[in-house]
Amino acid sequence: MLDLDGSLTEEDRQIRSVVAGLVTTRVRPHIARWYEVGQAPVRELAVEFGKVGLLGMHLTGYGCAGASAVAYGLACLELEAGDSGVRSLVSVQGSLAMYAIWRYGSEEQKRHWLPSMATGETIGCFGLTEPDHGSDPASMATRARRDGTDWVLSGGKMWITNAPVADVAVIWARTDEGVRGFVVPMRTPGVTAREIRHKMSLRASSTGEIVLDEVRLPADALLPTATGLKAPLSCLTEARYGIVWGALGAARDCLHSALDYAITREQFGRPIAGFQLTQAKLADMAVELQKGYLLALHLGRLADAGTLRPEQVSVGKLNNVREAIDIARQCRTILGANGISGEYPVLRHANNLESVLTYEGTSEIHQLVIGQRLTGLAAFGG
Ligand SMILES: Cc1cc2nc3c(=O)[nH]c(=O)nc-3n(C[C@H](O)[C@H](O)[C@H](O)COP(=O)(O)OP(=O)(O)OC[C@H]3O[C@@H](n4cnc5c(N)ncnc54)[C@H](O)[C@@H]3O)c2cc1C
Repeated sequence: MLDLDGSLTEEDRQIRSVVAGLVTTRVRPHIARWYEVGQAPVRELAVEFGKVGLLGMHLTGYGCAGASAVAYGLACLELEAGDSGVRSLVSVQGSLAMYAIWRYGSEEQKRHWLPSMATGETIGCFGLTEPDHGSDPASMATRARRDGTDWVLSGGKMWITNAPVADVAVIWARTDEGVRGFVVPMRTPGVTAREIRHKMSLRASSTGEIVLDEVRLPADALLPTATGLKAPLSCLTEARYGIVWGALGAARDCLHSALDYAITREQFGRPIAGFQLTQAKLADMAVELQKGYLLALHLGRLADAGTLRPEQVSVGKLNNVREAIDIARQCRTILGANGISGEYPVLRHANNLESVLTYEGTSEIHQLVIGQRLTGLAAFGG
């Protein structure tokens, strides 16, 4: 509506169209079933995404595509127009697991892990959250102690995307020197991962619990330059950036679905799209979608200029996920009873966005980040 496409480069548009094509052929025909059974073919999808350079696509070297932040954002948007769970697979692989190794790993760790993660043959996960410590990771209970030159890890991580299918985990643990990160092959003795069942959201994504029972690791499992909580938080900023864009994809898919429905569905002898109340909903949603897109584009340009700050990403995540979930719920009303059916994508997106609202920092935590920036006062507690 605002002709925003005109400001994209030809390369951005090409990347977007490749991802949109992949979602159309590989995700859309199956997603309702994957969601219903609560299982997606994560390994197959990872390899297909790897083939088109989607995994770690904004990173450079080691088989990564080195795309711009805007191109990466557009890819997230198109993936999430398919399903938030599918976008989560790409975000966790590229922005959390790969980014942690790329930014904080040794040259050997990068060479060992990144190329096969970029192709999707190796799947990674990122373990920060624990059963008793979510928004406040500084209180984490997972510990790593030195034993000779080895490290021994004990504890547990919860709600970890891809954990049940992962080959490798980046695990954050408390040590005598503060929080450190470890690259943990999932086959290491003492590591177990269990699928979390009965999710009512993000059902086409694998989410698990990781138990670490006296897991012995060699010295070179430590991410050498990741010291303190700022390291995992910097990874979260990367992933949140993708969500700023991704949430708009889910919202756009809902809006398209509601528009199509409203134009063809007749009540009281006319299409429901012809009622002013329906048009008010559609107009407000279209306005919010465009505003969210402008915000994402602005943040993407800051990222490409190398000046994007974490609190700016908080503005994007807070606004775009909050508006996306409002759009999804509003669209659901336009579809009436059909709005709750898996025949349409709307309630699936709305339910997925409940997870997106919570992970990578809840809305409340982003409000506190913005509040701290405005007032200079930290109101997180503790
Ligand atoms: C599907 C899914 C996938 C996930 N994937 C991953 C992953 O791959 N890796 C990973 O490490 N984690 C992952 N998470 C975990 C996610 O990051 C956490 O759920 C999130 O950080 C919130 O933590 P919590 O659930 O423990 O909620 P809590 O921290 O217990 O929060 C509960 C409520 O209290 C509010 N609250 C907390 N502190 C404050 C405060 N100071 N002021 C005001 N309100 C506050 C919160 O905003 C929230 O509304 C995933 C979660 C989900 C649902």
